[in-house]
Amino acid sequence: MVKLSSRCNLSCDYCYVYELRDSGWRHRPRIMPAPVRERLVSRITEHVRRHRLDRVRVLLHGGEPLLAGARVIADLTTALRRAVLAAGAGVDFALQTNGVLLTEALLDLLLDLDVQVGVSLDGYAEAHDRHRRGPASRSRPGPGTYARVTAALRLLGTAPYRPLFGGLLCTIDPASDPVRVFDALAAHRPPAADFLLPHATWDHPPISTDGGTPYAAWLCAVHDRWRESGRPMRIRLFESVDSLSRHGGSSSEVLGTVPAAAVAIETDGAVAWTESLNAVAEGAAGTGGSVFSHSFDALLGLACAPQYGTGSLCRTCQECPLVRVCGGGLRAHRFGRGRGFANPSVYCKDISALIRHIGPRLDR
Ligand code: SF4
Ligand code: SF4
Repeated sequence: MVKLSSRCNLSCDYCYVYELRDSGWRHRPRIMPAPVRERLVSRITEHVRRHRLDRVRVLLHGGEPLLAGARVIADLTTALRRAVLAAGAGVDFALQTNGVLLTEALLDLLLDLDVQVGVSLDGYAEAHDRHRRGPASRSRPGPGTYARVTAALRLLGTAPYRPLFGGLLCTIDPASDPVRVFDALAAHRPPAADFLLPHATWDHPPISTDGGTPYAAWLCAVHDRWRESGRPMRIRLFESVDSLSRHGGSSSEVLGTVPAAAVAIETDGAVAWTESLNAVAEGAAGTGGSVFSHSFDALLGLACAPQYGTGSLCRTCQECPLVRVCGGGLRAHRFGRGRGFANPSVYCKDISALIRHIGPRLDR
């Protein structure tokens, strides 16, 4: 994950970059400078050669990556593709955007550069605008962005841009109607949709952990609508429950016991484990290394590298009959109660309710 911009043009109230415990973004360059981009290209190429990889996947991210501008996006993707090709591998580029800055000119550029586009959309207008807003002024809240995002999605859905459409990313809010959210997403005919649980820990829990399972209820309703409507797009969360239940792998970072092979590169070249750890504490996602000081292999060898696998989980998770599918949930979601990461996920009840709901239906 390459963070081309450390800033954003929106002020979403649940943002995991700006609204959680980490404020490192304040001290980083707004846009990734050329020397960082050049060093990043050589680090990725070094990794490709060392492991004789066939392909790497590079996600252009932020903040809002389109704030980096056309030239920076073109320079990085062109240089990286050339270097990785020379190392005998291919590279798949994707860009995750809030959609507000997507224009025809930018889509033409992304088409030329062969960069897939994922867009964040929280469903129908009211659900989306409740959280995904522009910056507030002193006297009034920021404006909702639904109209601008859906206009961009209509453009992305037309020829010749349609092949660029990578999917939609939706953050779960139990206050929104799940079926209406699903239908609103499906109306854009995305090839895939992902659903994110808001990042939370035991010390900063989500809206309800007192016996209810509002996130499971929401996701189960979406799942049932997805099935009834003939699974019109891929949903990695549901597909991963299916696959893991059949002893397969997971395509979702939230499930399973095998870690996602990914790191995040900040605009100053610092390397972070995974963004969700921003929910834990200031600097919790940092590796202490950067593309200037460490190869990716050297970072994985550091003592602070997260431990994964069933053996790294707390006793409750290790003894849980769902552990092979659940994997203890996202690492950040286990944190708190004075026990570091030695807890079940703060979403334990929701995840187990979802797995139990989907599981018996998988073979039908
Ligand atoms: S668009 Fe993304 S990065 Fe920007 S404020 Fe919203 S959630 Fe945060
Ligand atoms: S988080 Fe809960 S459901 Fe998941 S493995 Fe741990 S105890 Fe089981």
